[in-house]
Amino acid sequence: VVFTIQNALILTEQGYNTLDVQIAADRITAIAPNLPVIGEAVDGSNKLLLPGFVNAHTHSPELWQRGRIPPLPLELWLFELYSPKSLQPEQIYLSALATAVETLLSGGTTLVDHLLLIPGREQETIAAAVRAYQQVGIRAFIAPLVHDQALPTSLPSNGQGTAQDPQRQTKATLDLLEEAVLEYHCPDRGIYLMVAPTGLQLCSDTLVEKGIELSERYQLCRHTHLLETRAQKILAQEKYGCSAVEHLKHLEFLSPQTSLAHCVWLDDADIDILAATSATVVHNPLSNLRLGSGIAPVLKFRQAGVNVCFGCDGSASNDAQDVLEAIKIGTILHNTTDLDYRHWITPYEAIQMASLGGAKGLGLDQQMGRIAIDHKADLVLYDLTSLSLLPRSDPLGLLVLGRPTQAIDSAWVNGQRIIADGAIKTVDMTMLKQELLSYSQDPQLYSTASVAGVEQHYRSVMGLPI
Ligand SMILES: [Zn+2]
Repeated sequence: VVFTIQNALILTEQGYNTLDVQIAADRITAIAPNLPVIGEAVDGSNKLLLPGFVNAHTHSPELWQRGRIPPLPLELWLFELYSPKSLQPEQIYLSALATAVETLLSGGTTLVDHLLLIPGREQETIAAAVRAYQQVGIRAFIAPLVHDQALPTSLPSNGQGTAQDPQRQTKATLDLLEEAVLEYHCPDRGIYLMVAPTGLQLCSDTLVEKGIELSERYQLCRHTHLLETRAQKILAQEKYGCSAVEHLKHLEFLSPQTSLAHCVWLDDADIDILAATSATVVHNPLSNLRLGSGIAPVLKFRQAGVNVCFGCDGSASNDAQDVLEAIKIGTILHNTTDLDYRHWITPYEAIQMASLGGAKGLGLDQQMGRIAIDHKADLVLYDLTSLSLLPRSDPLGLLVLGRPTQAIDSAWVNGQRIIADGAIKTVDMTMLKQELLSYSQDPQLYSTASVAGVEQHYRSVMGLPI
């Protein structure tokens, strides 16, 4: 399929330019003024064309819990999240569909789904997510959440540092991961599997090391949660006698194709290790605020040359999948952390982080993240006549710092037009909303019953009054 986008505003380092862009098959084939129209003409006047963003960390099944978990720190929140509420594969499909749609409607064309697996139905879970992403047409990195230690071991001073999760044997976990890779990993179709241990706090070294072997055997990207909370920093010292970053370096987990969600509690030596190994930080500002995890030292990362991109994180800790919202908060939040305003992130830099930075963390920066000839046609066209983007001033400044609503006219992924005239073409939205409604429960205020058993221990290790 061929498209000619005419007279679109495009950003270059020199400033805004009005140009035509041609797309043929999966890539950008021409960028110039007044191109002859080939294929379908798309009116780009009063519209801004940007490379698609990467929603570089989310957990789509959390959609079923959004809005429900009260204000709690991660360690207690997890007990609420994991309290038995068994999902059906059909629900996994629906929440993946909704996560993809919300990502697309806020400028994302790629997402990383650190996917919670239904115990005993792991392959069905992955199959349901793959089915959703193939239907929508979004570029999807599916990172099955794997760990082999029991949840209480993720708390410091619990004396259970190596307690095996009885339901999650290390070898069986690796086998199911390999089976999924063989079945679903298919970059040509926009579906990529990742090796993604949940986090050191829940994983044995064996699981991490064998996971690295698997990623090398099949050339997969790696992903994990890293030092999201202060409790995890304390736990790493207890468990390894060094920082979690040092331990990951020792295990040789860090690489240019490794992306690390959160990275809130890193010190300067840790930051140097990330820079030296060219690993990518995925900044999840809304989740970090919602769970009180802290403010990631993003300005320090950038000054050290560490690649940083943005994620929404799962909907139970952010409650929305709005990539532009994550970019906005993740940009201006850091103005409070450094008096020297010359270090603050500009809207232009924020867009670069979200697009090219996201691509880099997935090893795709030579193929996407820029509007350039021969790059993948993963593009988003913003309607600058949307009320939220008027009056026209600096369109990029307003896109990042404003609150864009219904601002997306079109989106392409791999050359396929998924959004046209503001509407998703690949999903029956009426059906999706009806299905989500049909699985809904009666409105209820949430209680924190599952937290009671661990709350006292958490309060005592974190130095809070009992
Ligand atoms: Zn997460």
